[in-house]
Amino acid sequence: VIPASPVAWAPSLDGAQVFFTGRDGGCSQEPFDAANLARHVGDRDEDVTENRAAVAARVGAPLVFVEQVHGTEVAVVDEDWDPGVVTTADAMVTTRRDVALAIMVADCMPVLLSDPSAGVVAAVHAGRRGLLDGVLGCTLAAMTDLGAHAADVQVVVGPSICPRCYEVPGQMCEDSGRVLPATMSTTRTGTPSLDLRAGAVQALVRSGVPARQITADPPCTLEDERFFSYRGAHRTGRFAGVVRRA
Ligand SMILES: [Zn+2]
Repeated sequence: VIPASPVAWAPSLDGAQVFFTGRDGGCSQEPFDAANLARHVGDRDEDVTENRAAVAARVGAPLVFVEQVHGTEVAVVDEDWDPGVVTTADAMVTTRRDVALAIMVADCMPVLLSDPSAGVVAAVHAGRRGLLDGVLGCTLAAMTDLGAHAADVQVVVGPSICPRCYEVPGQMCEDSGRVLPATMSTTRTGTPSLDLRAGAVQALVRSGVPARQITADPPCTLEDERFFSYRGAHRTGRFAGVVRRA
């Protein structure tokens, strides 16, 4: 039996190997079937370990995870990084080629970045709160500290909930619009919603990344059954955006 691939979507990004995992290609039981990568959702720990190993094998390097808290902290994965310690952060940056950064999501945006000239890659967990609080700008600043230039950075926004599905209270839509006007949107039924992808593009452009270097039209996690969706089912797994410096 050839096991299903853990790769659900593989866009391209210069200077990096990138892909997004999905539901397929793992051993977890319902409702985490089958490739859940998160330990905090109630899945069997040994199943998560096996699922993570399959992804690490696919990317050809150990995976670095962080404990994500919807904040703006950026972990710098340097030579002294201890893979046994899980740091609290919502983004990771590195110049290392021998590790892969893995950011977990189920509706929030996994954002992967690469500066192919400087040899710096990053992975970000950007939900509504992190996006509005500036997690993408903080990540670009950390990349710059490692020698990257915003003008050379390429970005891919991964599978996440789309503006036609992401209904929010009107007040939340207005409050978000004051920080990032591009986030204000409407659902397919005309109610207030958030366009996190457009908000990400706006935040990245404000930080100096050319719009033409940003790809932000990924599959919708609520509509596309290849991916876990928290709005679809609160008790569910997490998939990951994975980036490794080429
Ligand atoms: Zn959608």
